[in-house]
Amino acid sequence: MEIKTVKGFKDILGIDAILFNEIQKLSYNIANAFGYKLIVLPTVEYAELFDRSVGNTTDIVEKEMFTFDDKGGRTLSLRPEMTASVARSFIEHHMETNPMPLKFFYFGQCFRYENPQKGRYREFYQLGIEALGDISPILDVEVIQIALKIIEHFNIKNLKVKINSIGCRVCRPKYKETLTEALKPHYNELCSDCQRRLYTNPLRVLDCKKEKDSLKESLPKITDYLCDECMEHFEEVKKLLTELKIPFEVDNTLVRGLDYYTKTVFEVVSEDLGAQNALLGGGRYDYLIEDLGGRKTPGVGFALGVERFIEILKARNYKIPDNKKIYIAYDKKFSSTAFKIRDSLIPDFIVEIDPKGDSIKKQIERASRREINFVCILGEDEFSENSVSIKDMEKGNQIKVKIDELKESIKELINNA
Ligand code: AMP
Repeated sequence: MEIKTVKGFKDILGIDAILFNEIQKLSYNIANAFGYKLIVLPTVEYAELFDRSVGNTTDIVEKEMFTFDDKGGRTLSLRPEMTASVARSFIEHHMETNPMPLKFFYFGQCFRYENPQKGRYREFYQLGIEALGDISPILDVEVIQIALKIIEHFNIKNLKVKINSIGCRVCRPKYKETLTEALKPHYNELCSDCQRRLYTNPLRVLDCKKEKDSLKESLPKITDYLCDECMEHFEEVKKLLTELKIPFEVDNTLVRGLDYYTKTVFEVVSEDLGAQNALLGGGRYDYLIEDLGGRKTPGVGFALGVERFIEILKARNYKIPDNKKIYIAYDKKFSSTAFKIRDSLIPDFIVEIDPKGDSIKKQIERASRREINFVCILGEDEFSENSVSIKDMEKGNQIKVKIDELKESIKELINNA
């Protein structure tokens, strides 16, 4: 029997792989420029980490985790997200002794046992940032700004930013009570999960995809129940976003599917994505580290779904600023010179050397099947004159230049095209 990929898992190939690499590279560069440092985390954690952070009444933990016992009897999970791992790492390595805020960037795969469909896989990649150790709303705005900066770097504009505040341990209990009361008359309309969570975690109703929008919109709004501190924080975030001309809209039904969030939550959504329209999500999590046994350390961050971003880039016909492709066709006697020529052109260009070094004509034919922009020809004549002929594969014309001037000559040809 032919062995195929496992349901919900996939190969990333062709243009998707190129975009994947571009996203990884550029997002890291941007986050780094804002002072966020790379953190590389394990894919496997103790299952308990996610129970105690994402929350044991969330869909992710209740239904979607790949959890198993290893041969040593440890109950482990493939990570469904990475913020919990950042928090675990922060505590484990006593990072609280560093000057705050500490800022991290991550990129890696996550696993959720979900029903696979477009934009929803069982293994998917997230990139994200976390700023730990400061309660200032400035950081909430910084995190949103970086998310947009990454997206805009790919010339993607007009995505919608939705924000909300879901309060803290002071104000949320009162809201939960009110929400439960408001939901009771609708008990029979609720899905079985929401019926079960009505008394333990009614906020999940707002996040449940099975419940009607009309019901969600009719419920009391959390922003009417915020304590003074949360209200002030939310106002500050909105004020700064407005001053920075970052367009956003307040969505009172936005709660996000993870229990650790407090105060600000946000999402960036795109119509290009259809039903799974959230490109990224994030928010503040001021109790997470403390709940996992660390010192009281607030935090804020976001996670962006890489596959969904690839979909948007493809839908909007994003063109990767391409490095021109060069092929070296040569007389076999001059192989080492051909290698030296390639060395002088990398990394400004993508350079391939013909593997056979047979007749120049055949080599040019091979190049013509490989989307090559220029073929550099090194035959007897060229070698004796310390030169290379450059054949423009699009225009068909050819010029001869000295080997030391090759790189600049190709750049000139590109600029004058
Ligand atoms: P979350 O960790 O749930 O806040 O999700 C953050 C982002 O990860 C989402 O906005 C999606 O872009 C992406 N994402 C979440 N779950 C999946 C999935 N099953 N498949 C693909 N992308 C996902």
